[in-house]
Amino acid sequence: MGIKVCKFGGSSLADAAHFQRVRDILLSDPERRFVVASAPGKRDKADEKVTDLLYQCYRAVERKQPAEEIFARIAGRYMDIACALGVQQGMEKVLEDTFAEIVRQKSPDFAASRGEYLNAFLLARYLGWDFIDAKDFVKFDRQGIFASEWTNEILAGALRAHERAVLPGFYGSLPNGEIHTFSRGGSDISGAIVARAAQAELYENWTDVSGFLMADPRVVENPQPIDVLTYRELRELSYMGATVLHEDAIFPVHRAGIPTAIKNTNAPEDPGTMIVAEPTEACFRRPITGIAGHKDFTLISIEKAMMNSELGFGRRVLQALEDFGVSFEHLPTGIDTMCVVIPDRELTATRAQIVSRIRETCQPDSIEISGGLALIATVGHGMVKTRGTAARLFTALSEANVNVRMIDQGSSELNIIVGVDVADFETAVRAIYRAFVK
Ligand code: ASP
Repeated sequence: MGIKVCKFGGSSLADAAHFQRVRDILLSDPERRFVVASAPGKRDKADEKVTDLLYQCYRAVERKQPAEEIFARIAGRYMDIACALGVQQGMEKVLEDTFAEIVRQKSPDFAASRGEYLNAFLLARYLGWDFIDAKDFVKFDRQGIFASEWTNEILAGALRAHERAVLPGFYGSLPNGEIHTFSRGGSDISGAIVARAAQAELYENWTDVSGFLMADPRVVENPQPIDVLTYRELRELSYMGATVLHEDAIFPVHRAGIPTAIKNTNAPEDPGTMIVAEPTEACFRRPITGIAGHKDFTLISIEKAMMNSELGFGRRVLQALEDFGVSFEHLPTGIDTMCVVIPDRELTATRAQIVSRIRETCQPDSIEISGGLALIATVGHGMVKTRGTAARLFTALSEANVNVRMIDQGSSELNIIVGVDVADFETAVRAIYRAFVK
């Protein structure tokens, strides 16, 4: 029998009713043996996430301000869940001890980690499953970099000793035993790490949406869901702004060849999205998989006659960026031109200095800076096999009266990236969507 590892996000474990739903999901499939829990999320739009409250609590302690009232709100969330599910015995003492430890340790990571710790503890109790503390098996090095191989080895050993278990997401520990967290949303990463260590056949990531959509629903009305996509396609789409899964959750499972299913806790029967390591037949049957984009980029265009034969020209341009700690996104080039696309936020403080450094070291004929650029990535393995994809895309943009300011297509033929005026962003995304989706 295969193993499925399930991660439930904060909205899926926000209150007792959701705990019951989670239990039904887990009990409906005996292969679901390991669960990774997030901290309780928002119950409605106006609500607060327990993780945010824990950071607030830490800040109050740090500033020597009273933190009791904030912690009482956190404790109330857990007591409500525990009482409704009949697992409240001893819980008040656990919460009291937790607060005392937050005050004693004065560590933001320790404080934040208690959201996952307490929720996993409660879920394990409610299910009657074992509890495994991530602190003992998810390891970071002294610099706080995740130690993937060390973790995999010890976690695999630990999981073998349990038939069914719940683990808290989001944190692990440093070599000195101190708690250390991943970045926000990091329980997705914990789930992927557990899936790899368990050699799972499937990593199920349960959230509050039924998978990925082909485009941002705030831009395109009612976009179609994506039934299957590859990790590489997902990386391209999420890099460009599609956020359902933490970016770093891709690596452990991709490398191990384990697919990830994105499922909706509130609608478990919805098919969701399956993310696979290698493209399947279905991936090639459609021309594109999805469209994603970002606003607020700047384009630096550098022109110099005979640039193509000047040794080290490109290096000097990039060196100027590196010297000011700026990383670039794209680098479309021509014969005598080189463009660098940079997010605006990277340039705010250093713009003028970078330009004068490029002038100094590269002596270009001209250098032009223009802001207000939006990038749109159209992604899909299907492009390789579908003739006319680019023609369709650019025709759609021209018919929508959108001026294309930059084009970049990687040699992988997995995406076509176009740069348009920020003001044209929504129109362009809609036009591309309509061109490919009937
Ligand atoms: N609770 C943490 C956060 O809010 C981690 C997570 O939910 O994945 O970022």
